[in-house]
Amino acid sequence: MRLSGLALRHFRNLHSQEVELPPEGVALIGDNAQGKSNFLEAIYYLETLRSFRGARDEQMVAFGEDVFRVVGSTKADESDELDGGEVAAAFQRKGKRKKVSIDGSEPDRMSDALGRLSAVIFSPSDIELVSGGPSERRRFLDIVLSLNEPGYVSALQDYKKILLRRNASLKAGDSGSLVAAWDGGLIRSGAEVMRARQAWVTSRSGAFGDYYRRVSDGAGARMVYKPSVPTGEDASVEGIEAAFRDALMDSCERERRMGVTVVGPHRDDVRLQLDGEEDDGLDLRDFGSGGQRRTAALALRLVEAMTIRDKRSQRPLMLMDDVFAELDGGRSERVLELLEADDVGQVVLTAPKESDVKIRREALPRWRIEAGRIAT
Ligand code: ATP
Ligand code: MG
Repeated sequence: MRLSGLALRHFRNLHSQEVELPPEGVALIGDNAQGKSNFLEAIYYLETLRSFRGARDEQMVAFGEDVFRVVGSTKADESDELDGGEVAAAFQRKGKRKKVSIDGSEPDRMSDALGRLSAVIFSPSDIELVSGGPSERRRFLDIVLSLNEPGYVSALQDYKKILLRRNASLKAGDSGSLVAAWDGGLIRSGAEVMRARQAWVTSRSGAFGDYYRRVSDGAGARMVYKPSVPTGEDASVEGIEAAFRDALMDSCERERRMGVTVVGPHRDDVRLQLDGEEDDGLDLRDFGSGGQRRTAALALRLVEAMTIRDKRSQRPLMLMDDVFAELDGGRSERVLELLEADDVGQVVLTAPKESDVKIRREALPRWRIEAGRIAT
């Protein structure tokens, strides 16, 4: 899939403008604070209906305005003949109302509109996926799986809802049987979440290591699912449910004392480790250099793109916000090679300086941005 056109209205500092995007993509060059990241944020909004930077919707409405609107026109990959589609999203500050339409009609549920653009975003803050705490990696898993695994969103939403109620009950000091009334639902939805996470991490760990090795030119790495509930060998839903039930039983006293549910997928982690002598591997979080962490973060995004290719049979649009800035020459060069080898589709990348654009050399058209205005 590719984005053939984008129409913006009152999105951050981007004013109102329409651009047509070339099939191969574009490099957007501009000084700091001119709107480069805002432009990628607008595009990626059409994939997840939220800011990749974690901003609230109202923060993205241009100062002094009430409504922002982003409309993307899509085309089938490399084909101008096939009919394209349209994804549109708008948000009104005053009424706190979000409106989404796919090919002109509003979906029944907001979640039906997720994942319609097929895009992956690489950004400087991705380093947090490696350096940050477990919640960063859980959020990454949740986004990837919500967008690509049917049924994941509803299992996750159920789990979160039931967990809240169960915690409220624990906090209120309710009797054991009152708390346990939530267990069936918690275990069912939680096991589904864990099974999907386990399957994804296990099946993609090899690809993660491969990307890591190719960018770092040698040294390997791996990703390992570390569920808070020891699931053991049996990775079936039934096996995980049984393990979760046991873990809840074992932690009964501790959760009473603490007033919260202490085991479950809300406490999961994914370990990112350097391959090495140690049996257990060295955690990149604790032992990785800046460049190694950045490489691991990049590898995670590449695996995300691969997931989209596999699940949706579409090459995702690669949105790269200033990615080469912190990589050494060799690594940047190998990322570039890898992107070409993988036959990526459209790329939209940003950089403050022309010389930072090391991808596809001269092939990628250059656009400039100044004070939110794009010159194509
Ligand atoms: P850098 O190279 O530093 O990353 P950038 O080009 O990516 O810069 P952006 O983050 O896209 O910069 O844009 C930042 C600018 O957008 C800031 O000047 C900020 O004041 C402005 N801005 C942010 N939100 C809004 C908004 N809601 N309305 C108008 N302007 C906004
Ligand atoms: Mg930026």
